[in-house]
Amino acid sequence: MATIFTKIINREIPATIVFENDKVLAFKDINPQAPIHILVVPKKEIPTINDLKKEDRELIGEIYLAIGKIAKDLGIAEQGYRVITNCNEYGGQEVFHIHFHLLGGKKLETKIV
Ligand code: 5GP
Repeated sequence: MATIFTKIINREIPATIVFENDKVLAFKDINPQAPIHILVVPKKEIPTINDLKKEDRELIGEIYLAIGKIAKDLGIAEQGYRVITNCNEYGGQEVFHIHFHLLGGKKLETKIV
């Protein structure tokens, strides 16, 4: 089912877009948890990690290549950053269109849970 991220991809609602190619879109999180908080999403609607198929292997590679480029462009590649994907209820997923949180711009807590 289409989510708010599909609406952002289709430009039906606004977002601050920082990267786009034919398969991937990245935009600023509306409620940032770090000085830099970008959401990197495939244009293909995939609800969760559990729904990934073998045919999506290349797409996930594209996402990580995009993440690396965005981190470099935003000047956080050398200092470092964190990439998180939440899955379903216990993972804290709220938007069911698979996405990768790119967090950086400060030294993040060591603990991730
Ligand atoms: P999740 O909890 O599913 O891993 O992350 C969903 C993220 O989407 C949250 O960090 C939330 O702030 C962000 N978000 C929800 N709605 C919008 C929106 O309309 N625009 C943007 N840019 N981010 C959103």
